[in-house]
Amino acid sequence: MAYLLTALAIGCIWFSAKYKWWKPAISLAKPRILMYHMVREHVPGARFNGLRVKPALFERQVSWLARKGWQFYFLSELLEAETAPEKAVVLTFDDGFEDNYRNVLPVLKKYGAKATLFLVEERFDNDWSVKKKAHHSSGELMREPKLTDEQVREMIDSGCFEIGGHSLTHADFSKLELDAKQRELCQSKQVLEEKFAVDIKTYAYPFGIYSDEDRELVKDHGYACAVTTIEGIDDDIQQCRYDLKRVKVAGKKNFLHFKTSLRLGLKGLL
Ligand SMILES: [Zn+2]
Repeated sequence: MAYLLTALAIGCIWFSAKYKWWKPAISLAKPRILMYHMVREHVPGARFNGLRVKPALFERQVSWLARKGWQFYFLSELLEAETAPEKAVVLTFDDGFEDNYRNVLPVLKKYGAKATLFLVEERFDNDWSVKKKAHHSSGELMREPKLTDEQVREMIDSGCFEIGGHSLTHADFSKLELDAKQRELCQSKQVLEEKFAVDIKTYAYPFGIYSDEDRELVKDHGYACAVTTIEGIDDDIQQCRYDLKRVKVAGKKNFLHFKTSLRLGLKGLL
C-alpha cells in the first residue's frame, strides 16, 4: 500500500512538473506563433525526428485549434492588424519540405486554416545541417524531398499559404561576412518575389542564429518582421517584430504537450 501511494505521489509530481497545470495561461490576447518543419511519419533511428510531426497528430492539432475558436493568420497579416486580435494563431513552416504540400495543405483546406512558409531559395542538394554542426553530415535533411516551385505556386494560389524568406542557402549568418549576408537576404527576396509574383514581407533567421547587425540588415532589406527559434509568446509583437518568439511544435511530443505549450509558450518539461 505504502509503495502504491509513493508511486502515485511521484507520478503526480512528475505530471505536474511536466505540464505545469497550476500555471495560469498566458493571455489569449497574445498571438501564438507556432513553429513546424515537416509533417510526416518518423524515420526509424533518424536524428531529426523532432522536426517531424506525424500527420495524424498535426490534423488533431489544427482541428482542435479550429474547434476552440483560434483564428488563423498569415504572419504578415498579424503584423498589419491595427490591434492584436484575440485568440490569433500563426502556423509557420521552415525550409520548404515537400510534405508541406502533401500533408499540410489538405489539412489547412479542410479546416479553413492558413500558414506562413519560410522558403529556402536554394533548397535542392543543399545539406544545410552541416553549416551549423559539421558532424551533422548524414545528409538526412538533404535527402528529404523539397517543394518544387510548381507545388509552392499551388500552395500560394490555394490561399492557404503565404511565403516568407529564409535566406538563399540556409546560411549560418555567424560565419558570413557582411557582403555575403547582404546577398543572402537580397537575392532570396528578389528571386522569390519574381518567381511567385508576391511580396516577401516576413523572414525567419536560419537556425535561429542572428546578431544585432543581422537584425538591422533584415530590416534594411525590406522585411517587415522576423521570427526566431526562441521559445515563447511575446507580450507585444509590434515591439519585437524582428525578434518574434515561437512555440515549437515538437515531433516527439504528445497532444497534451501541444496544448500545454500553447497555453504557456514553453516546453512542458524545462
Ligand atoms: Zn531552417
